[in-house]
Amino acid sequence: MNLNNKFNLGFFPTPLHPLKKFSKQFPDYKIYIKRDDQTGLASGGNKTRKLEYLIQKTLDEKCDTVITAGAQQSNHCRQTMAACAIAGLECHLLLGGDKPEEYNGNLLLSHLLGAKIHFTGENRKGEDIEKLRSELEVNNKKVSIIPYGGSNLLGALGYVNAIKELKDQLKEQNLDIDYIFFASSSGATQVGMMIGMDIFDVDAELIPINIDKAETEGFLENIVLDLIHESKQFFHLNKEYRITDIPLERNYDKAGYGYLTDDEKEAIKTLAQTEGILLDPVYTGRAFYGMLDYLNKKKLKYNSNILFWHTGGLPAIFNYGKELF
Ligand SMILES: *Cc1c(COP(=O)(O)O)cnc(C)c1O
Repeated sequence: MNLNNKFNLGFFPTPLHPLKKFSKQFPDYKIYIKRDDQTGLASGGNKTRKLEYLIQKTLDEKCDTVITAGAQQSNHCRQTMAACAIAGLECHLLLGGDKPEEYNGNLLLSHLLGAKIHFTGENRKGEDIEKLRSELEVNNKKVSIIPYGGSNLLGALGYVNAIKELKDQLKEQNLDIDYIFFASSSGATQVGMMIGMDIFDVDAELIPINIDKAETEGFLENIVLDLIHESKQFFHLNKEYRITDIPLERNYDKAGYGYLTDDEKEAIKTLAQTEGILLDPVYTGRAFYGMLDYLNKKKLKYNSNILFWHTGGLPAIFNYGKELF
């Protein structure tokens, strides 16, 4: 296994620090934050870590063009575009829905970073990728496809490596963590963390907050399990995983992907007004609300240390001005 074959795109390690003022409201707990909103790639986020491996592979294969897909406010697409700018790659983004009258948030940033943007209407999950690939190949482009959310084995390596980084920081700060909260959506962040914790012997309970309302029962759990099996082979791990070993907290996804409720608003305002740290409306606002709810209901063991892993996403907030005002 070689975690070093990657293309540097960010500033690592990202900070790990206590939420001192926020923690005072919860005397039974100490709460920390890991700042992957500060990876530095065109306003940061968790996709930076995945892209270090995905872009390296693209360059290793001597490709000159990247295609990926997502929502119009996709953090993944914005960071992929930024990574391609740095690596000198042409980047095509397939974004669901129709072309809006004006660009804002991640869409505006992707545009400024140089993306070739294709609006794909009802085809929201990259259904048009193969057609575009053929067209580009006719024009002699060497195309590399980066999957939805950057979630494949290489993407997961980003978070295997992140757990190694966390382990070193915990040692340095003489700290033990009992629980880790984070937002889980396309799966590779969670897979990387789970596999990383096995490889580097980090012992904490993961509480992934599910973001997308389930299309079918066990949808994300199955994606995570499949990717874990692939990762197990890659790392030659023996541990057996079953579907029941995949943690996923589904209590906070009812509004559906991208729909802001009072819960996300409360989370965003609480963290902003106690710590001066901004969450995003789609992912980290929802995940932080999940943690708040656990804290308020005292669902975690007394005297424990809790980590909120901030995965970024801030630009999307500018698409929610009306709701958040
Ligand atoms: C993509 C994303 C996530 C979810 O990560 P997955 O690896 O897709 O599960 C969480 N937070 C933010 C801000 C994201 O952009």
